Amino acid sequence: MSQDQNHPQSTKAQVTQAAQIGLPQSALRRRLIEALILVFCVGVIGLGTYALAFRAELDQAAERAGADLALSSDRLRAGLERYRELSVILADHPIIMDLVTARAAPPAGLQAATSQLLQAMADQTGSHSMMVVTRSGQVLAATDRFAAPKGVTPAIQRAMNGALGSAHFVDDQGQRRFVYAAPVFLKGAGAQGAILVHVDLETIEWGWPVDPFAVYFTDASDVIFVSNRTELILAGGGDKAFPAQSKQVIAGHDVWTMTAGPYIPPRVLHIERPLPIVDMTAELLFDLRPVMNLAALQAGIVAAIALAFGAFVVLATERRRTLFDANTRLEARVAERTQDLEQLNRDLKRAQADLVQAGKLSALGEMSAGISHELNQPLMAIRSYSENAQLFLERQNPDKAAKNLDHIADLARRMGRIIKNLRAFARQENEAISDVDLSAVVDAALDMTMGKISGAGVTLHWQPEPNMMVRGGEVRLQQVVINLISNAVDAMAQSPEKHIFIALGASPVSGPDTPDMLRLSLRDTGSGIADPDKMFEPFYTTKDVGTAQGMGLGLSISYGLIQSFSGSIRGRNISQGGAEFIIDLPRAKTHT
Ligand code: ADP
Repeated sequence: MSQDQNHPQSTKAQVTQAAQIGLPQSALRRRLIEALILVFCVGVIGLGTYALAFRAELDQAAERAGADLALSSDRLRAGLERYRELSVILADHPIIMDLVTARAAPPAGLQAATSQLLQAMADQTGSHSMMVVTRSGQVLAATDRFAAPKGVTPAIQRAMNGALGSAHFVDDQGQRRFVYAAPVFLKGAGAQGAILVHVDLETIEWGWPVDPFAVYFTDASDVIFVSNRTELILAGGGDKAFPAQSKQVIAGHDVWTMTAGPYIPPRVLHIERPLPIVDMTAELLFDLRPVMNLAALQAGIVAAIALAFGAFVVLATERRRTLFDANTRLEARVAERTQDLEQLNRDLKRAQADLVQAGKLSALGEMSAGISHELNQPLMAIRSYSENAQLFLERQNPDKAAKNLDHIADLARRMGRIIKNLRAFARQENEAISDVDLSAVVDAALDMTMGKISGAGVTLHWQPEPNMMVRGGEVRLQQVVINLISNAVDAMAQSPEKHIFIALGASPVSGPDTPDMLRLSLRDTGSGIADPDKMFEPFYTTKDVGTAQGMGLGLSISYGLIQSFSGSIRGRNISQGGAEFIIDLPRAKTHT
């Protein structure tokens, strides 16, 4: 049996091995695909996170850049403001008003005094130069150094119209100037002259702190006029100042990518706001590298988490798949085994049935001599009774003849009963367990073994008992009792005293916990059991092997049969000599 099981196992092991040899390629491909999908998903998640984080950071950067731009614009405005105030205050100065009043022929002393005043004011305020001009542009007084009012004509014009004029230009030395032109009003004549205050823009820029961002101010002709980055000054705004530039609008913000020298970052946020007070546009380039780094960091963290989670999911799935495969294989093996076991069970049942039948036939073989004697005897008797009946009829004695016929009928009935029992016994069929009368079972067994018993000169002690109903199979129980009787007769072959005692009664093992049991005991006066521990083993016999008697199966079959009825059978030697066999069987319910 173990060999039978080992063989399919080793075949299965080979199949599994073969499957495993084929596994890596497909599994490797599957894992590669899973890894690619994972990497792709992680990439998409990382890029998505980067885009979102970049946009969010961009909003904040725009806010900061806006504040910076406002601050820078204020700085420029505040730097120019004092010169503006100065021009307005000087326009009301009596000396200047006198000079403008006497413009056609100013006294030399007045002109010099005015020039002195202007110089003193310029020195104190740090303005580049000042001058007083007439409506036609004629210079009436000026600081030591002064340039002709080039490029300021529109500003003077504006002053002559009664408003504060302003202008910016590059002077002959290539310096950037900002100029305020304040009108000088004469009583009843309106604006007749103007005081011009020139500012050197470089001196204003010098006062600015070093900012991490580039800020610049472009005029109407798109020229960068003021900036905290010298390389940008006087460059054309937009494309001219920033070559190789690409402009994008991301989430409503201008993002410029470019190469514009070491002091301009490669990727910037560009913002601008008009600055009407100086007639320029303020613009700022905010370095986006920290923003990009922050977004990349966030994207990296999210991607790492996604990667870890994805790897966990992939591994868990892989593990589940492995477990599932193992489980499927196991289930298949269990099913296969179950099938094998069921087949074995069927084979076992058939073998048992065959064995029981063999046991019965063996018992019949043993009994055949006795049976033929048992049938022969009544046959002989029938013959002599019928001859006698004939004689009585010839002698006109019908009463005696009738009696003989009665005897014949009795004997025929007895023979019929024996034959019926034998046929039932020899038939191979699986009778169901039912209520069986133990007394009838013993009677039938005795009917079939009577030949053997009386042939051996054994005296039988047997008293049938009423209501001895047990659960069992009638023929199988007969087989057990026949076997016990036959063994007892065999064991007494050499005994001077030959007695068999068969008794029925309630079993002492019956109690509240055990089912109600009935007991059949069979005792002989034979040699006793040679080895009580071995006698229920199959093929154990002390009789001549090969004869009809000694197959060594009777007791082992009996043991199996009684067990199948939930009963028990045991045997022992008794003190006064001989063996006793005891069978306990559950009592039928209907009689309890
Ligand atoms: P078999 O009758 O073919 O030998 P059994 O299984 O019926 O096979 O009996 C096994 C053995 O048990 C017998 O050979 C005998 O040694 C012993 N045995 C059985 N019944 C008795 C008995 N009543 N007295 C003595 N020995 C017995």
